[in-house]
Amino acid sequence: MKRISILGSTGSIGEQTLDVVASAPERFEVVALAAGGSVDKMAAQVRRFRPALVSLGSQEAVEALRTALCGEDLPRIEVGEEGLLAVASEPVDMVVSALVGAVGLAPTLAAIAAGSEIALANKEAMVTAGALVNRELEKHKVTLLPVDSEHSAIFQALAGQRHEDVYKLILTASGGPFRTWSAERIAEASVEQALNHPNWDMGPKITIDSATLMNKGLELIEARWLFDVTPEQLEVVVHPQSIVHSLVEFCDGSVLAQLGMPDMRVPIAVALAYPERIPLDNPRMSLAEIGRLDFEAPDVKRFPAVELALAALASCEAAPAVLNAANEVAVAEFLEGKIPFPRIVALCAEVLEAFHRKPPVEELNDLADVMEADAWARRAAQERV
Ligand code: MG
Repeated sequence: MKRISILGSTGSIGEQTLDVVASAPERFEVVALAAGGSVDKMAAQVRRFRPALVSLGSQEAVEALRTALCGEDLPRIEVGEEGLLAVASEPVDMVVSALVGAVGLAPTLAAIAAGSEIALANKEAMVTAGALVNRELEKHKVTLLPVDSEHSAIFQALAGQRHEDVYKLILTASGGPFRTWSAERIAEASVEQALNHPNWDMGPKITIDSATLMNKGLELIEARWLFDVTPEQLEVVVHPQSIVHSLVEFCDGSVLAQLGMPDMRVPIAVALAYPERIPLDNPRMSLAEIGRLDFEAPDVKRFPAVELALAALASCEAAPAVLNAANEVAVAEFLEGKIPFPRIVALCAEVLEAFHRKPPVEELNDLADVMEADAWARRAAQERV
């Protein structure tokens, strides 16, 4: 029995993780769950998985959960940031870190300090503080497994290989809903159009990041820290069918890829059970039916986010945290209809420029440094909205 906790259990990855857990009940025990304000979903999860501890974002949400579960066996219920850290620190075999955004960093560090293995879906933890997370993993002798589909593909392709034989990591990108749109048409894109991802069923933040291709930029930064490669060893190729989930090129020219239908339950299951595999009842890939796989270079003119992210990665430790925070603000403003679509990445570029003119912090030695860079960038982005 693997004892697991989930940070962000009512989000897209959290729910799909519980799907995988439910399909293999003999393998997993759900110990603790943390979510924000989705009371109904949390009540259903408590009834189904009987965790010992849960946490919600606010006192109101906790009261609503108590009311929803009135007369039933209640788990220990905690609240807010402290509750989130309590769930992260609860001793278990594995913590699934599936919060969205930089808010996932502190609980991920807490889970590492508690000695739990990490299944990381919260890419922002690696983007904002990859070097720091790696130092903590080493210090506490903790293993981290990627859940992001591209990184899971690379992780699988690297199994049994020597690190020094890796030449290049090639991350695939679907290109998002605007891959074939002109710049003029993209400038007018609505929230609804941006949320209409062609292949993957994901939460709103990452779906917008996929439309700008910022998601791929953040994933390059994530890959740099997960796999200990240089920025020069990272490449992006657009692959609209999302069947090849990423590739590794070795020093002899061999390229290994991982393929399959786009379904997040697969990389989740890989992380949960590694090195074993869990049988899943999911749609299977038929190459004969798919017929062809297409690849193209990303268009940096219409989608400048990837280059922006690589530039941030090359500059200083704090720059990716600044980029990430500016992007979180910009995506939230876009989703509220307050800025047009192309303004998301433009705003990130402006905040990075201001950061480089007078950086408030450059090296990230601890969580406080990351939070300082993050808070500075959020203010800088908000001022420019
Ligand atoms: Mg991904």
